[in-house]
Amino acid sequence: MATKTASSTAGQTNGKTAYSNGQNKENPLEKFFHDQLKDMYYAEQQLLKALNEMKSASTTEELEDAFDEHLKQTERQVKRLEKVFSIIGQKPEGKKCEAMDGLIKEGKTIISETKEGTMTRDAALIIAAQKIEHYEIATYGGLVALALTLGKHRAAELLDKTLQEEHDTDDKLTDIAESCVNFEAEEEDEKSEHSMDTSSSNF
Ligand code: FE
Ligand code: FE
Ligand code: FE
Repeated sequence: MATKTASSTAGQTNGKTAYSNGQNKENPLEKFFHDQLKDMYYAEQQLLKALNEMKSASTTEELEDAFDEHLKQTERQVKRLEKVFSIIGQKPEGKKCEAMDGLIKEGKTIISETKEGTMTRDAALIIAAQKIEHYEIATYGGLVALALTLGKHRAAELLDKTLQEEHDTDDKLTDIAESCVNFEAEEEDEKSEHSMDTSSSNF
């Protein structure tokens, strides 16, 4: 099959590549794997800030603790990604992840659109956080599979450890929602509906 080679000289000067860390030797699948690692390295770092904000915005102690625990886990996940970069002979580097930026933005909107100290805010924060976890689960799931395909078993092991933590966090958030938050948020809604019944007649 004929291939286009016009762009393959990018990053080269006088026949020498501009990279000295082996980047030029990556095949397309390795490059994709590397790019996805960069995506998550950026995403996890953004999450460190976002989880802190979500933690402070929480109403219940249970949710606050869950965010706090995941924040500490996320710090370790960043270090784990750095190990994976070193396994593939690359330096740790982030690449803007539009999806995570969008999910975090949505989380911020939820905080600004719900009342402080309410269970409704907790119910909404849990859903925002679960959307984030699901994005991470999809990415780490794919990264584990790719690492195995590429024969990088130690990298796969490390990534799988993080994948399990994201799954556990997702499950924990479901438990918190189902054990008390959603029910209490619904009761809160009923109370505010009753007060709305008497104050608004234009519906
Ligand atoms: Fe994470
Ligand atoms: Fe991404
Ligand atoms: Fe996570």
